[in-house]
Amino acid sequence: MTCRPSSEYKTYLTEEELPTHYYNVRADMRNDHDPMLNPATLKPVTVDDLAPVFATELAKQELNATDRFIPIPEPVREFYRMYRPSPLVHARYLEEALGTPAKIYYKFEGNNTSGSHKLNSAVAQAYYAKLQGLTGVTTETGAGQWGTALAEACSYFGLTCDVYMVKCSYEQKPFRKAVMGVFDARVTASPSPTTDIGRKILAETPDTTGSLGCAISEAVEAALNSGGTKRYVLGSVLNQVLLHQSIIGLESKIAMEQLGEYPDVVVGCAGGGSNLGGLIAPFMADKLRGVKNPRIVAVEPASCPSFTRGRYAYDFCDTGRVTPLARMYTLGCGFIPSANHAGGLRYHGMSPILSKLYHDGYMEAVAYEQTRVFEAAVLFAKRETILPAPESAHAIRGAIDEALKCKESGEAKTILFGLTGTGYFDMTAYENYLSGKMSDSIPTDEDLQKGFDSLPKIPQNEGI
Ligand SMILES: *Cc1c(COP(=O)(O)O)cnc(C)c1O
Repeated sequence: MTCRPSSEYKTYLTEEELPTHYYNVRADMRNDHDPMLNPATLKPVTVDDLAPVFATELAKQELNATDRFIPIPEPVREFYRMYRPSPLVHARYLEEALGTPAKIYYKFEGNNTSGSHKLNSAVAQAYYAKLQGLTGVTTETGAGQWGTALAEACSYFGLTCDVYMVKCSYEQKPFRKAVMGVFDARVTASPSPTTDIGRKILAETPDTTGSLGCAISEAVEAALNSGGTKRYVLGSVLNQVLLHQSIIGLESKIAMEQLGEYPDVVVGCAGGGSNLGGLIAPFMADKLRGVKNPRIVAVEPASCPSFTRGRYAYDFCDTGRVTPLARMYTLGCGFIPSANHAGGLRYHGMSPILSKLYHDGYMEAVAYEQTRVFEAAVLFAKRETILPAPESAHAIRGAIDEALKCKESGEAKTILFGLTGTGYFDMTAYENYLSGKMSDSIPTDEDLQKGFDSLPKIPQNEGI
């Protein structure tokens, strides 16, 4: 193994060191998450249930709880070589600014056109769709990173890409739509009049700014109505997505080993849980096997607090109530975060794998107001010269607070966090923050209750 001087600022693995296999954390979990249920029968879903919606290989990955390592197909590795391995950075200028004895490392995933880690899964999903002979895929996008990543992957593999984009983002981020257009994606504002569910939601709430859950319902419907030529793909939450994102953690662990480091704390932002699940995967493996015991911290927005204030219940993955039911920390599929929330991570639920690990005490979670998140983003940008995505800035805030705790206690801990992406398309939010116009909106218990009232009323949820 390569040994590197620990004074190095950036650590790049060689292309040869790019992992050959994804890591499936489920294989090491003592207790698996509760099974995904078919909403019609309330029985655990099978590959056959999922096959009309997902590419078959991906449906198999979704339900795979036994294979610890799954090979990364060579065409996917070839694509990865265009932008991976991604750097592990020693944030020493941030450390200096904080005056902390802690060492802070971050894994930077923003070095590709999508500006986020989402390309890691988009490429794998597009590849399996192509392998199966499908002509295209459908999806939703909130902030736009996932839609962009998928558009890139689809144009590379020669697939069509229909993106349902949450209406408020569609209006606030016209350039995101233009980037997707470069890669030939067709982008529709959601809810839209092009689907049954979109028409229904528009009839009920004509002024709605849309939600991820609603966009998911539209994309699923479009795939199901394609006569079998298209499938739906999702950029987070699902087990298959965490599996693909494990490349983030696997690379991080190798790079840290080369530096002679191991994290005491791993911090990541949590929307649907895919970057966090990927970053922590090999460290969680050590924890599950009792080899090491790093703390794992999920950071979420106070305006969409699934882990810290959600219920651990069976819920639909979408507002339209068409997807399978997953047991997860959720605010209810009817929950829509306040429109003034600009920091991303707006999804109502959370990865079933992470939900289970959190429920069983293997991880912690904290929630931050967005003004504190942007404060961290601006400090980070000035010290480390990367303008972070607001989503990523949640992890920065979490890492800074861990480092400040070390300053108080005098401990020189090693902190690793995931810098998931860049924020160039989020300048309206930055402008609001800089001009003092940004405010925090934390849902009241009553607001949350409305979301909980939308949880499916099934026997599995009784007493929750
Ligand atoms: C989508 C996204 C996230 C959140 O999604 P997860 O599935 O929770 O990782 C975080 N950061 C960026 C930059 C994103 O694009």
